[in-house]
Amino acid sequence: MVTARSCPCGLPQPYDACCGRFHSGAASAATAAQLMRSRYSAFVRLETGYLLRTWHPRTRPAELGLDPGTRWTGLEILATEGGSAFHTTGTVTFRASYRGGAMTEHSRFTREPGSGGWLYVDGDVSD
Ligand SMILES: [Zn+2]
Repeated sequence: MVTARSCPCGLPQPYDACCGRFHSGAASAATAAQLMRSRYSAFVRLETGYLLRTWHPRTRPAELGLDPGTRWTGLEILATEGGSAFHTTGTVTFRASYRGGAMTEHSRFTREPGSGGWLYVDGDVSD
């Protein structure tokens, strides 16, 4: 359950000290899982610019229309592979819940040498 004091991604710390510093550009996610969490928070907070910024140029949509009516209720990281500060690729399997349902996605991430930040490439969604 997300409380007012915790970050939308579910970690028990204030938004500003968690995903907020990534959304503002003050910091970059160090791991693919951290990027995944910050992207989930961006969906919750309708941070469209951040979602596009952290999307690989090859797969990034021209624009992103988020539905403000979607009520995201929780994120659970189920598995990760690679994606650490020592990798250039990684995968994260997560389950995102919203009012009325949930979705599971196996997402692929990459980090371009030199650019520093992790980017979302694409993912396989299942119910
Ligand atoms: Zn967070």
